[in-house]
Amino acid sequence: MKKIYFSFFIFLTPFYGEGIEPKYLCSHEKSASRWQTQNSTLNQNQEKIDIKFYELNLDINFNSSRIRGSVTVNGVIGNIYPDFIELDFYDNMTVDSILQNNIPILYLHENDMLKIPISDITIDDENLFSLTIFYQGTPDHCGAGGFKFDEHQNIGHVWTLSEAYCARSWWPCKDDPSDKADSVNIIISVPLEPAYIVASNGLLSSTTINSNKKTYFWKERYPITTYLVSLAIYPYTKWVDQYVSPISSDTMLIEHYVFPDRYEASYPNYSLTKDMLSFFSELFGEYPFISEKYGHADFTWGGGMEHQTLSSMGSFSQNLMVHELGHSWWGNLITCKTFNDIWLNEGFARYCQALWAEHMYGREAYFDFMNNHAYYGAGTIYVENPSSNSQIFSAGLSYNKASWVLHMLRHKVGETMFFDILKTYASNDSLSYNAASTSDFQKVCEDISGLDLEQFFQQWIYGEKYPKYELSWWHEGNGIYNVKIDQVQSYNFFSMPIDLKFAGSAGPMLVDTTIVIENNNSSQLYEFSGFNFLVENVMLDPENWILKEATYSVNEIDNILPDRVEVEKAFPNPFNSKVKLSFYINPQFGDTHVNVNIFDLRGKIVESLIDNEFIPGYHTTFWNANGKSSGVYFIQLATDNYIDSQKILFLK
Ligand SMILES: [Zn+2]
Repeated sequence: MKKIYFSFFIFLTPFYGEGIEPKYLCSHEKSASRWQTQNSTLNQNQEKIDIKFYELNLDINFNSSRIRGSVTVNGVIGNIYPDFIELDFYDNMTVDSILQNNIPILYLHENDMLKIPISDITIDDENLFSLTIFYQGTPDHCGAGGFKFDEHQNIGHVWTLSEAYCARSWWPCKDDPSDKADSVNIIISVPLEPAYIVASNGLLSSTTINSNKKTYFWKERYPITTYLVSLAIYPYTKWVDQYVSPISSDTMLIEHYVFPDRYEASYPNYSLTKDMLSFFSELFGEYPFISEKYGHADFTWGGGMEHQTLSSMGSFSQNLMVHELGHSWWGNLITCKTFNDIWLNEGFARYCQALWAEHMYGREAYFDFMNNHAYYGAGTIYVENPSSNSQIFSAGLSYNKASWVLHMLRHKVGETMFFDILKTYASNDSLSYNAASTSDFQKVCEDISGLDLEQFFQQWIYGEKYPKYELSWWHEGNGIYNVKIDQVQSYNFFSMPIDLKFAGSAGPMLVDTTIVIENNNSSQLYEFSGFNFLVENVMLDPENWILKEATYSVNEIDNILPDRVEVEKAFPNPFNSKVKLSFYINPQFGDTHVNVNIFDLRGKIVESLIDNEFIPGYHTTFWNANGKSSGVYFIQLATDNYIDSQKILFLK
């Protein structure tokens, strides 16, 4: 989901906090335990069932703004029976009856929960149950919308947006991201006039027309979580395109359901969908729903929502498109196990925007994107209390800082390893078409990289803020440089690899080298030597791979740069055969090693004039350029902490 405008609807939903009692796991419970987590919002009864299938069969009445129909729920019960089958469903919706094998059964509907006593339910040998709930009503506004009767250009328009806890506002379900139904049927009836098109998840298997209604039969045959089940209804202009997989050469339909007035404006960007699909498929592995479709359905909400196989779009920027498409892998293929872990959806989708910027406009655009989405505020990426949309969908934490975690991980493990991790994560047997927690992702990262990433995840996901580095450096003499890095923040120290860029000059050429150091304490001193140039500057993480502040204390080399050597201007200049260079060594420093070299324009040494120890005093050397081509040269004098380079012109 990506909200573009600044208006928040805060809606508190019931939050269940019961713990999970420790118990022996039999085989049925093992299969059921996969969606159980410490922070589940499920109650104990819900944890004991596993949903297999939903069928929504709804009639949409635009005149009365009411929906009426049924939802069939098929599920499996673990060996420890719940007291009730409990389905989340808002109280304002009216349940007319619940049928099992066409026989009405008893139920309670209170506190936004539909409770059916287990004693009244027939459970077969396979522990399967099946219920059909008949209901009607006008769905209440929920979260970012829930189910909305809306208008676009004075024509009725229905859209849904159920993340995080709002599927329950319009259809009864076990409304939790971790328990995906294996498949869902979505059967929707709309009036014949105007010529409504119902767009939804999966593939359209058929449409029928009966008296004054048209019915759309959509089938989603990939596992899907409740908040991704969606409707977008309008007399859309529909156009299609084709994706040819760069991996398998398989083809897939791309469907665009656009508001007629947006058709022309959105066409150029929507035409890029196939390129975006190819780009991400090559990076993360095949588009996860390739047997069905991908597409866009315009809606009137001010943002986008990654509904499985058909993103709902409030606008059509490339940024919004790649964000929602990125969710096909990060959110839809692998769904956050709980909303504490929402960064696994939103941080990844935000990062997809940076990857697309890099792909289209180059490395600089990538870094610009990251720098424009840095977040330095308080709070943890791990959502401590995911009870409302405003807490879950924090732009700073769940989106921006979370995308920086991937940016930092990319540099920490290295380019190739990073994309290996993403591909392996997307194809993980127990996580793909299922749900993952932060620790699941951490484990994949550690398995692939062989690194212990506990500290990395602790500080960035469960910890707050960022390091504030202070760097100072000085030349010890004899080509040895000391660099001191202090972490001056008042909170915990961070452990990160840091790029140190040493820059200086050799002759006329600017040269630099980057060394990666491990930094993990409040104050650390590093010693470097072996540079083949005089270091003039040391920069900390100049490319910005770390979310940080960096300050530099006074470059201490200045303090030990007295006039050990004074170099005169080369003379004559220009010259036509011989040029003179004189220099003076200050007696207080004693004997000094001096190099004088001649460089050409490409930085290559043409001739070495001096490589000797000199006593203090006044000295002179000459360069005889006979036999050389005329042109520009550089005469450079260097000691171990001083460098003087002058441009000289040889004219024959
Ligand atoms: Zn999103």
